Amino acid sequence: MSGEQELGITESKEHNPGDWYAEVVQKAKLADYAPMGGFIVTRPRGYALWAAIKDNLDGWFKETGAQNAYFPMFIPEGYLEREKDIVEGFDPEVAWVTHGGYDELEERLAVRPTSESIIAPFMAKWVRSYRDLPLRLNQWNSVVRWEATETKPFFRTKEFLWQEGHTAHASESGAWEEMTLRLDQYQRLYEDVLAIPVLRGRKPEHDKFPGADTTTTVEALMPDGKTVQGGTSHYLGQSFADAFDISFVDEDEDERIAHTTSWGLSWRSIGALIMTHSDDQGLVLPPTVAQEQVVIVPIWQEDTKETVLQYASEIAAELQDAGIRVKLDDRDERNPGFKFNEWELKGVPVRLEIGPNEVDDEEVTVVHRPDGETITDDRGDIVESLRDHLDEVYAKLYAAAEENLEENIREASSRNEILGTIGQHGGYVKAPWCGDEACETEVKEQIHAEVVMVPFDEDEEPIGETCAVCGDEAETTAYFAKSY
Ligand SMILES: [Zn+2]
Repeated sequence: MSGEQELGITESKEHNPGDWYAEVVQKAKLADYAPMGGFIVTRPRGYALWAAIKDNLDGWFKETGAQNAYFPMFIPEGYLEREKDIVEGFDPEVAWVTHGGYDELEERLAVRPTSESIIAPFMAKWVRSYRDLPLRLNQWNSVVRWEATETKPFFRTKEFLWQEGHTAHASESGAWEEMTLRLDQYQRLYEDVLAIPVLRGRKPEHDKFPGADTTTTVEALMPDGKTVQGGTSHYLGQSFADAFDISFVDEDEDERIAHTTSWGLSWRSIGALIMTHSDDQGLVLPPTVAQEQVVIVPIWQEDTKETVLQYASEIAAELQDAGIRVKLDDRDERNPGFKFNEWELKGVPVRLEIGPNEVDDEEVTVVHRPDGETITDDRGDIVESLRDHLDEVYAKLYAAAEENLEENIREASSRNEILGTIGQHGGYVKAPWCGDEACETEVKEQIHAEVVMVPFDEDEEPIGETCAVCGDEAETTAYFAKSY
């Protein structure tokens, strides 16, 4: 097999999205499969994407009062059991440590499936007075959920990277604002950093985080018609505070129970990023998260090599000084065509081609990764024009994703219409719904689509008077979709 063939993507995104995705992840060097089923190894190029996501979110969290902390990865069984809702919700997926060396432990330790039950007792300890509130903690860590499904890097793995925020507030309104603020930040991450428009809403009652009062979500529609739950933010009410005794003395010296929230966003966002923008040539990245925003590929013959490389190096230095992440690919052993393919595969947003003609005319040839659009620019205003090109690439990616979203929200008023519409087109189907899980189950059993969200606004009238499935009175509008 030649180098060229090894480099290229052989699967089709349109016809075989699962295999295509796995091939892009491996060939773009984002991740590899670990020896244990359900685990992956994140390679530097994949971790760089997570670092970019993390840096953005972490900055926003800190600006809005959250502080990072770190709690143990093991949770004593007794702690998990203090909140029955959590343990019942996660029990089948919990991995347990039963031995330390040769000795059986007196109490089993859970590998955290989420950290509410180890964080809440410390919140209880640290919160004494209303002056200690709000308390906002966040941790960047990994959690383990032992699901027996096929491994799909960043989408389905037993261990995954995420952040989990945990806050305590004096009032319901304070906690509710917190939940909304974090959901806003998740939406901002998708729309302003990952170039993916999202819908926001609530999870139906039966699909809330165990023990939560309200679970909110941002949902992103993938080109294959399935939705990705992009991040969730929960108002936990007082159930956790009650179970773990997070109470405080208020201004009137009365003892009161706090209101808590939790919110999490995982590396599934990387999966959504890859799936949304990439194509049959490989990865496509928005400039916001790309490790290299611009790659310069010089094109020379022996007699022009020196002048071309000199010109290309000067441009690279100028861009770098301006804070643009640029890579000059001056490798001798590879020809320009090979380099084009390789950087396309790795998703670099903009390519500059520089040969003797560009040197003579004091120009550069600029190519946009998403659509191959080719433009000739003057050498003179290179920094400014490159900034514009990077913005244009971002805008192109966002527009394509937005078009996919807008074209794939449909309505249905009967069970058969829900089944038929999702079966034929995928995407979201809005239908009036009574709120009963049994009606969702009927749809789920037929085509594996479920209610992925209901509108956030409680006051919004359902789009029809009767449930599309059972005919009882409709309570809300449900968004049915197949889900990752
Ligand atoms: Zn119904």
